[in-house]
Amino acid sequence: MVINFSKRVRRLICIAICAVLILGGGVHLLRNNNEVVKTYGLQNNKKINEYSMDIIFDDETKRVMCNQNVSYTNNTKTSLDKLYFHIYPNAFLRKETVPFEKNEMKQAYPNGFNEGYIDIKNILNKSQRLKYEVKGEKNDLLEITLKEKLKPNQKISIDMKYNIKLPNCLGRFGYGENTINVTNWFPIACVYDERGWNLKGYETLGDPFYSETSNFHIKMLIPRKYKLSSTGKVINEKNDNEKTLYEIEALKVRDFAFILGEKFVVDKTDYNGTAISTYSLNKKYAKTSTKIAKDSIAIFGDLFGKYPYDTYSVVASDFYIGGMEYPTLVMIDESLYSDRSKFLLEYVIAHETAHQWWYSVVGNDEISEPWLDEALTEYSTILYFEKKYGKETADRLIKTMEVQSKNYLCENIFKATNQYRNSTEYSLNVYTKGAVIFNEIRKEVGDKVFFDTLKEYYSKYMYENVNGAKFAELWQSKGVDINKIISKHK
Ligand SMILES: [Zn+2]
Repeated sequence: MVINFSKRVRRLICIAICAVLILGGGVHLLRNNNEVVKTYGLQNNKKINEYSMDIIFDDETKRVMCNQNVSYTNNTKTSLDKLYFHIYPNAFLRKETVPFEKNEMKQAYPNGFNEGYIDIKNILNKSQRLKYEVKGEKNDLLEITLKEKLKPNQKISIDMKYNIKLPNCLGRFGYGENTINVTNWFPIACVYDERGWNLKGYETLGDPFYSETSNFHIKMLIPRKYKLSSTGKVINEKNDNEKTLYEIEALKVRDFAFILGEKFVVDKTDYNGTAISTYSLNKKYAKTSTKIAKDSIAIFGDLFGKYPYDTYSVVASDFYIGGMEYPTLVMIDESLYSDRSKFLLEYVIAHETAHQWWYSVVGNDEISEPWLDEALTEYSTILYFEKKYGKETADRLIKTMEVQSKNYLCENIFKATNQYRNSTEYSLNVYTKGAVIFNEIRKEVGDKVFFDTLKEYYSKYMYENVNGAKFAELWQSKGVDINKIISKHK
């Protein structure tokens, strides 16, 4: 995500970027990269979870009705007697639990608070009802008790029937005047890692998500008037006068999101086998956003390794928080598509696109270690400006970031999202100072080691979840003590 800057911070950054771009040198043409980058499968041929969903969207009530089947494989070393799923829509049920800071409530709910939730009808295994309980402080956790223990490597098929009510809300999940944002919306399996189950709820700060790479097979019926943007690829489409039935396949992705809009101007291009689509609400910026999306995919592919999916979508949305990443799809605050914000628009699209490498392909627990994806993504955004507009431009951006994060130098960037007091403190530590630290690492180890290591990090952990320790270990194997470098800049 690009953080919910306070207006003042956002204005400062915007001015800085404008200045940088105006002062910066001419546009450097992208290097055409014909190098074939090997893509890797999942480690040890691990069986991943398969989600099959039949979805109907009811426009009048803004409800999503869904029959979901999950073929869940126990990839842990222990037998499991319970399974856990996040049911994030319930965080939107009560004013007290919505994932917004108090001073943001007006922006999130311009028409006043209204509720969002998930209503689970039943949960079955082979037509037999399973016992389940809705848990967590925000009621956003689903605990399913299995009839028999699920042994390591064993698979179980779970059917769920549920309805989702979308709130009229301009956060990630909800609808506004122009778009219907259906994100973090379905029961998604919690991650069981070396710490056990990760059951944290929908926190206010950061992107509080952690999930496993899975396959999604979707059938979706929506009113024909809407244009659909989604994770994955539409493989079939049928219409009658009123409705469209889409068949979508999203393979090896860690989430499935979709956004509907009547007024989208859709622009398309392709790069290196990836179909890039942009969905704009301001026609004037349709081509611009496509160009930024394409340049981002090209630059990051060149720097870190090829983008492995065949689609990528950049979607203007009723969303007040800048930008947000989902696999193969990012949402961008539609108000950035304006002459006043065009530099910020480029910044946000580049940032969200970098998340396709750091979050989507290489995953991590974004609550416990938000720096792992955000700091690297923020620095990747600087690299985008460096490759596109030249080193001088990037240096000026870094200078601005050094000044902005100066007051936070004695703080620890390794904190969990919920240990920061507010979004400004979180953002200046994790993003801004994080990017400065990555720049210091690069200066210290030199470009060759820096980029070779990031390339290796990407290919080694493709589709997996990593943690800070594994990240540091990889640098250690190159003779770089990353902790020492970081501690110098704390
Ligand atoms: Zn981000």
